[in-house]
Amino acid sequence: MSRPPIPKDLERKVLLESGHRCAIPTCKQTPVVICHIEPWAKVKVHQFENLIALCPTCHSRFDNTKAIDKKSMKAYKAGLKPQEVNESAQKTFKEIGPLAYGGSVIQIGGIGSRIVTKTAWSLDEHGYFNANDCVFTSFNGPGDFMHVCCADGYQIVACKSETDCYIEKLSDTNYGVGILDQLKNSVTIRCERIEH
Ligand SMILES: [Zn+2]
Repeated sequence: MSRPPIPKDLERKVLLESGHRCAIPTCKQTPVVICHIEPWAKVKVHQFENLIALCPTCHSRFDNTKAIDKKSMKAYKAGLKPQEVNESAQKTFKEIGPLAYGGSVIQIGGIGSRIVTKTAWSLDEHGYFNANDCVFTSFNGPGDFMHVCCADGYQIVACKSETDCYIEKLSDTNYGVGILDQLKNSVTIRCERIEH
């Protein structure tokens, strides 16, 4: 598998997290390159949790000389605070980039609120995919629309909320979920692998 470029939005999120500087707090140098903590050759996916911005010196001390080990790098990553970029623009799955997992269930919302938490995970596969990248929401009340994309090879087959909703296919991997009444708690969306 050849290595695709890191999607722009993901790159921005990684850069924002360390203030566009080297993520090692005592370094903070520029310029930076985005590095995989677990090597690309092993994970074959660009995932926010595994990406960190490093200056060339820290990158080399991590990648080449191993002066900074993986545990330390994970600790530096854990100490960073992701910054959210609010974008209402719809994106297709292809624009978001190749994620490793197909979605099975997406659940949005929290007690007493329209959107408190947003998590997406896969029941049938082997891990999470990023709900912040895959689900776009703008709930204000009845009739609102939520955009959901699922991984290539998957389709949304059902969705459910406390107050009812419907699914509209917008493209092969992009769906809209219409909320018929004010979203009170959560929406559960089920994706299944498309059978050929
Ligand atoms: Zn550095």
